[in-house]
Amino acid sequence: MTDFPRSLIEFQQRFADEAACVRYLFAARWPEGFVCRGCGTSKAWELQTKPWTWECAGCGRQTSVTAGTIMHYSKLPLTTWFWAAYLNFEVNSADREQLAAVVVDRNSPQKHVWRAQIILATAEGCGAAEVMRRAGVSKPCVWRWQERFMREGVAGLLHATRRWRHASG
Ligand SMILES: [Zn+2]
Repeated sequence: MTDFPRSLIEFQQRFADEAACVRYLFAARWPEGFVCRGCGTSKAWELQTKPWTWECAGCGRQTSVTAGTIMHYSKLPLTTWFWAAYLNFEVNSADREQLAAVVVDRNSPQKHVWRAQIILATAEGCGAAEVMRRAGVSKPCVWRWQERFMREGVAGLLHATRRWRHASG
């Protein structure tokens, strides 16, 4: 992300709520103001029925400011993901050691190794494409485990529940 605040205080003030995050995403997506990718029209309305989505006044094409990002997939608030980006998806050293141990342990289930690799690569600041390459998994899979980690930490990656046992990734 560009033009990101440098200090924690500045960050808190600037991205205090969802609307502030949306303004940032809007400006990042359309630095010169809204432009429809379908027809080039620069007029659009913000939809009331779908979150963070604009509808082109020319052709009716709808574009979400979070399209193509984990924020679109996730149910967590935008502020949470902005925090994660600001903190570089911070993973503390204890968690990092635990995840690294999972990766090198030959007895680890392969799915745990993938999940650990996803979080370690993310913590290193890798973009989604690089995380996918390193862990050898799809983008939805990367997002699923980033979200799980955000919600439940390392335990969320490693606990095995019957319901998830046969889920891919
Ligand atoms: Zn259009």
